[in-house]
Amino acid sequence: MVEKKIKTVYDVVCPFCGTLCDDLEVDVKENAVFEVRNACQIGTKKFFSSNPSEHRFEKPLIRDNGSFKEVSWDEAIDKAADILVKAKRPLLYGFSSTECEAQSKGVELAELLGGILDNTASVCHGPSLLAIQNVGAPEATLGEFKNRADLVIFWGSNPVHAHPRHLSRYSEFVRGYFRKDGRNDRYIVVVDPRNTHTAQIADLHIQVNPSEDYELINAVRAVLRGVDLDEKEVSGVSMEKIKEFVEILKSCKFGVIFFGMGLTQTLAHHLNIDAAICLTRELNDYTKFLLLPMRGHYNVTGANVVFTWNTGYAYSIDFSRGYPRYNPGEFSSVDLLMRNAVDAALIVASDPASNFPAASVRNMFKHPLIAIEPHQTPTSVNADIVLPPAYAGIEVEGTAYRMDQIPIRLRKVKDAPGECLSDKEILEKLIEKVKEKKGE
Ligand code: SF4
Repeated sequence: MVEKKIKTVYDVVCPFCGTLCDDLEVDVKENAVFEVRNACQIGTKKFFSSNPSEHRFEKPLIRDNGSFKEVSWDEAIDKAADILVKAKRPLLYGFSSTECEAQSKGVELAELLGGILDNTASVCHGPSLLAIQNVGAPEATLGEFKNRADLVIFWGSNPVHAHPRHLSRYSEFVRGYFRKDGRNDRYIVVVDPRNTHTAQIADLHIQVNPSEDYELINAVRAVLRGVDLDEKEVSGVSMEKIKEFVEILKSCKFGVIFFGMGLTQTLAHHLNIDAAICLTRELNDYTKFLLLPMRGHYNVTGANVVFTWNTGYAYSIDFSRGYPRYNPGEFSSVDLLMRNAVDAALIVASDPASNFPAASVRNMFKHPLIAIEPHQTPTSVNADIVLPPAYAGIEVEGTAYRMDQIPIRLRKVKDAPGECLSDKEILEKLIEKVKEKKGE
């Protein structure tokens, strides 16, 4: 029997979370992922999920009498373009798990249609972007934090679960140029209402009351300024502990706050981030201090960057007047869907039906729905048209932005199965067909 050859691809970038680990080794046998080395469990799972299976779409599908039927690309693109051209207010949403080149095509299509363009930041770090627009942000690259930080604070983020290798590559266990003893050279603080797995390996866990981070940050700022607060505790944290925390903040050589959705998606939203940025800025009167959002989807940062290059705005953009307008809360997907204010949706590399509020999902399902999605998901199985893409970063190359805004080139390790095309190619076909139907 002839042994099937195994091909190993080195320096592969993991297209799962915003850490974008770029040191993976992937073995491919018979055009299927056979083994993945160096990735964490969730990253590994993503590579294996690209292999052909009963859950993977390989041909374009159109809903016919309640069930899907396979059709040609020409027929699927024609039907999808028809839906988009006829819609008065189409929503184009997702874009955070695909490459920048496809995101750019998404902007072009949204402008052509006069539709709404949004990415997943509107339900994760949108408040961070709003706060940064208001007050700026003292940030740096992950390499700076790895080499210099001796105080690392995870505020409302749980990297052990959401960004597992962040700890070993950049923030906790890794040896850095000035932190040669790795974990022993760093003091780790977790601020979180829950006793998370990250909190369990920290030096200090500050257990803030749920949704009371804003009060705690401002109490820390007040103590930092020398104000003697006449309180026994703030947000469930004793004044002794707040004072101890302030001393830790002031006495480090280089500190960083990595903040997550525990800060962006709790009460006060962007005001939490505004206050955290102000605290970081004020700490620079004593020492060097920076902060960085822990971005979830591997290229949500790219979606914000590419949308901003093209329109001036990072998310929640309305083209209905022929030029881009920006107003999160008015033009963000959940708000529009809750008001039943869109009449068709094109979902690209995302699954809003699994995480949007139920009432908004019900409204999304009332109107024609097109999904560019490789798998059966709560969104795609309820779509009217499924356009099957190749996986960016596994089956097609492209560019993605790490959480610290560093662009990294994604590698291709194998071919896509069946008739799958890249997200970029699919969007280009849609643009061409929409132009044809609009007589442009
Ligand atoms: Fe992939 Fe994130 Fe895990 Fe790195 S930490 S291997 S980018 S899922």
